Amino acid sequence: MEILLVEDDPSVAASVIDGLENASMVVRHVANGKDAISLAISTNPDLILLDLGLPDMDGQDVCRTIRETSSIPIIVLSARSEEIDRVLALEFGADDYMVKPFGMRELVARIRAVGRRANQSESAATPAIQVIGPLSIDRRTQRVLINGEDIYLTPKEFDLLAHLATDPGAVFRRNDIMSEVWDTNWYGTTKTVDAHVAALRKKLGNQDWIEAVRGVGFRLSIPDS
Ligand code: CA
Repeated sequence: MEILLVEDDPSVAASVIDGLENASMVVRHVANGKDAISLAISTNPDLILLDLGLPDMDGQDVCRTIRETSSIPIIVLSARSEEIDRVLALEFGADDYMVKPFGMRELVARIRAVGRRANQSESAATPAIQVIGPLSIDRRTQRVLINGEDIYLTPKEFDLLAHLATDPGAVFRRNDIMSEVWDTNWYGTTKTVDAHVAALRKKLGNQDWIEAVRGVGFRLSIPDS
């Protein structure tokens, strides 16, 4: 799971990051509301942990703003003095809330529970955005992001990537790629495919995104690093 942690207190952030990483979660950390909103939209995490007392914005407003465009699960973290209750948290769009100080075991359990609920309600709808590790592909807008950064692809590069992403990890034969992406049954040289693969790899920033399977074709895989 990929978690966006929004917390301005460095010591709380450090212990949460530590605990979540121990639970095999990937954590991206920001310390203010402005960055929280922009990363929530650009990186599309699986869940957001949102501290309510932020230096630049009220956490409730951050939550409402994210909710205008996204249904990413949000768990708010509040200090006891903020006297927030569950009803209020749900009213401004949070899925759950926790009062500081909390134990890591409980936090991890809540994250998993909220994540499961979100998955169940999402599986009914076709996701517009496909997320493969740090890569996200929006077929509707033809937008591709890596770690939240826009990658600019030519239409054919996009089609090639989208085609490989229909089944990440599966090997696609060169000739099949030719006919699917270039809409041609011309089984001559497949240098076009190779050239586009090379260009895509360069733009994705890591050769390993597209693995060549000798004598067969290519497959999409998440690089180790
Ligand atoms: Ca705070």
